[in-house]
Amino acid sequence: GPQRRIGVGPELMAPEEISRYVPGFRAPGLALAAFERQAAVADPHRTATAFAARAQELGARVYTGTAVTAIRLRDGRVEGVETDRGFVRCEWVIHAAGAWAPRLAAGIGVDLPVKPGSLSVCAFDPRYEGWSTETPTWMDLDTVTYARPDARGLIIAGSDHDQKGDEDDGEAGALNRSAPAEPDPDVYHGAPDDLTAALVYERIVDRCPWAEGARLVRGWIGVDAYTPDYHLIFAEAPAGSRCLHVTGGSGNSFKLSPAVGEAVAEYVASGSCTYLDTQAFSLERFATGRLFRGAYRMHILG
Ligand SMILES: Cc1cc2nc3c(=O)[nH]c(=O)nc-3n(C[C@H](O)[C@H](O)[C@H](O)COP(=O)(O)OP(=O)(O)OC[C@H]3O[C@@H](n4cnc5c(N)ncnc54)[C@H](O)[C@@H]3O)c2cc1C
Repeated sequence: GPQRRIGVGPELMAPEEISRYVPGFRAPGLALAAFERQAAVADPHRTATAFAARAQELGARVYTGTAVTAIRLRDGRVEGVETDRGFVRCEWVIHAAGAWAPRLAAGIGVDLPVKPGSLSVCAFDPRYEGWSTETPTWMDLDTVTYARPDARGLIIAGSDHDQKGDEDDGEAGALNRSAPAEPDPDVYHGAPDDLTAALVYERIVDRCPWAEGARLVRGWIGVDAYTPDYHLIFAEAPAGSRCLHVTGGSGNSFKLSPAVGEAVAEYVASGSCTYLDTQAFSLERFATGRLFRGAYRMHILG
């Protein structure tokens, strides 16, 4: 339905057919399967560094390992940013500090309603010849568990912490429901705890029994900024300040980054944005209760 209308076109198939693509996949309990032949995985590190490299080719200067300590306004307009390597004067600030954004925003009197939340990933060594770097990613929507091969053929997997999807969550559910109210993003680092790793393992083995005994090679935790409606904030605040806050990835905004980049470029170049509806992503929506709702009721799947 909705996917076909935007030209994605997944093929529907009986769950038993999944094993043609993911060898040894067990389908009991599944009603229907959808397969998107042209889907692929983009490596997040390579994608981010490719964006940075292209920006540098176009004249940008990139300062890694440099912390912005404050945004400075003068007469309500951006003057520059303080960093741990000195002051940088600029006409615009694109403030995209993710889960750390509320601190810098508070310094200029802007309240960003985002909270940090974590997502865990586990890597298992499958030791099974049916699983290869060519195996498609699979996701079981019943337990919101996914697995995909990495470049070496390990199983990269994750799962929602809760047992079942909740219809009332609408789009905001699925992988995102583990967003806690913990205010400090720096507490999320290292590896997932044993219970989380065991849950992921159990759910992978449930669908792929050949993974029984697969060794946990490593795991890691990432942090993202969660908004109350699980959609991005794209907002110039204070109004007219030339400080554009772009945060609130809510566990699902890697894939949006090319589109968000287009929108930022247009907004900075022209002061407005036709590329996306800035009202829909405004800060005001949280005060007025007009939260973002997609055109269809569906979970965001990562
Ligand atoms: C395990 C995991 C799996 C995910 N899977 C998917 C997926 O399949 N699909 C999808 O679309 N999304 C996925 N996401 C979500 C996606 O990664 C995020 O939504 C996205 O990265 C948010 O981008 P961002 O630029 O807003 O924030 P971030 O990527 O968090 O970047 C913010 C950056 O700002 C830096 N920073 C913070 N404070 C300062 C400061 N004071 N000075 C300088 N720099 C600062 C931080 O170091 C960080 O590099 C996943 C996330 C995780 C953790």
